[in-house]
Amino acid sequence: MNTKYIFVTGGVVSSLGKGIISASIGKLLQARGYKVTIQKFDPYINIDPGTLNPYEHGECYVTADGMETDLDLGHYERFTDIQTTRNNSITTGRIYKTVIDRERHGDYLGKTIQVVPHITDEIKHRMLREGLEEGLDFVITEVGGTIGDIESAPFMEAIRQLRWQLGRDAVCVHLTYVPYLKAADELKTKPTQHSVKELQSMGIQPDILVLRTERHLDDSLRMKVASFCNVDLECVVQSEDMPSIYEVPVSMQRQGLDAAIMRKIGIPVGETPAMRPWHDFLHLQQEAKAEVHIGLVGKYDLQDAYKSIRESLHLAAIYGGRKAQLHFVNSEAITPDNIAEKLEGLSGVIICPGFGQRGIEGKITAIQYTRTHGIPTFGICLGMQMMVIEFARNVLGHTDAHSTEMNPQTSHPVIDLMEEQKHITGMGGTMRLGAYDCHLREDSKVRSIYGKSDIKERHRHRYEFNNHYLSDFESHGMQCVGTNPTGNLVEVVELPDHPWFIGTQFHPEYTSTVLHPHPLFLDFVKACI
Ligand code: GLN
Repeated sequence: MNTKYIFVTGGVVSSLGKGIISASIGKLLQARGYKVTIQKFDPYINIDPGTLNPYEHGECYVTADGMETDLDLGHYERFTDIQTTRNNSITTGRIYKTVIDRERHGDYLGKTIQVVPHITDEIKHRMLREGLEEGLDFVITEVGGTIGDIESAPFMEAIRQLRWQLGRDAVCVHLTYVPYLKAADELKTKPTQHSVKELQSMGIQPDILVLRTERHLDDSLRMKVASFCNVDLECVVQSEDMPSIYEVPVSMQRQGLDAAIMRKIGIPVGETPAMRPWHDFLHLQQEAKAEVHIGLVGKYDLQDAYKSIRESLHLAAIYGGRKAQLHFVNSEAITPDNIAEKLEGLSGVIICPGFGQRGIEGKITAIQYTRTHGIPTFGICLGMQMMVIEFARNVLGHTDAHSTEMNPQTSHPVIDLMEEQKHITGMGGTMRLGAYDCHLREDSKVRSIYGKSDIKERHRHRYEFNNHYLSDFESHGMQCVGTNPTGNLVEVVELPDHPWFIGTQFHPEYTSTVLHPHPLFLDFVKACI
């Protein structure tokens, strides 16, 4: 079978959950035995989301090959266990950069470079992933933004051309919103009709409509949408609010979304796959009623800012038979006087990753408290660095110990840049990014948690543990138990005498998936329980 292409666009408003729908389609096709990949095209000008403030765009997700990407790639990986790469996340900025670099290089031989065809050709090339990967049955392409946005127009034109070119090998899924008007006690389909009209005016007739709704849509409403939008009734699917995003694939399967896609393409539908492991997980989720309360000590009071950490904790809790209740603890508001009160009722805390000065002292205060009170503590990236600083200050007695990121003048730079990094001046893409090997020490807790000695985990940081202090830390009880075999960099610290006190320089949250939850999160949540 030659590769088939599914385009997922969105209309009416943003935040409808296109990422979840795309991931669900991927999951359902995978369950039918197809080899699938999912990619995200974002219409903004940034080269990648790496330099974006999490308040603007939520968490920055990092692929194994070191690309800073959109958080939707996290959904794709958690749902499907596909390992995404830099090819799965494209922005307008990257498209333009490629075309402009080529123009500067003289590759266009004096032609006038235009949005159509040069930009659209580059988009099409990337959508097709020509020659990039062998043997893919389906490429699902999610386009960020909402129909009608000026910046998404070139992407729509590329989709229009590709549909023409590919014929039945391409399918367009359009996600829209059906609002409920309380005063009229009615669900309104007009915004959907307008959104489809807009898409049609760009030359794209959607094959399948997914209607986001807070209330159940009956058949007459679906019929109305079908007939106004030139779509078959079986191709009008609804995406109602679910108690958990992980129920979405099952709901889509029940309504035959995957079957509708296959019929459009012209491949035999066959039997509906049972998706046993997924249902087993959903069963565990339904059964997990008792709660475990965990604190997230960080500076972003926004669901999406620590998306992968939150999902990793939820998943780990479910496998531990609990429902995770996550409490954001704003590190900027923490003081030595109020810390006991701030952490009251919490069974464990995550010290979140981050950049810059804001909220740092609060994190250190929280760590001092959890270290001395035996509360399970998991420090991730900046969180691990703060564990090291807290230990240096309060155990080693280096009262001004710090990271040179926050205090370049400190007399004890326990976290510092490596020599070869000191010349770096730019911001985007200049960090240690992506998966690196790590060797775990024989008798360590982490080694028994992972159940193996050699691991690979994803990184996103500039600063490192300063090996100059290594023996001092170890002789006072903080063990550096994970090391990068080539650079000798410290990747994991732990306190053997504490119930659970582990810091990782890497981000284990990027690799925790629904069917393969990460061992560190599983063990941490177990300790909390
Ligand atoms: N700011 C720290 C560094 O660059 C940690 C980054 C992070 O937590 N992702 O090293």
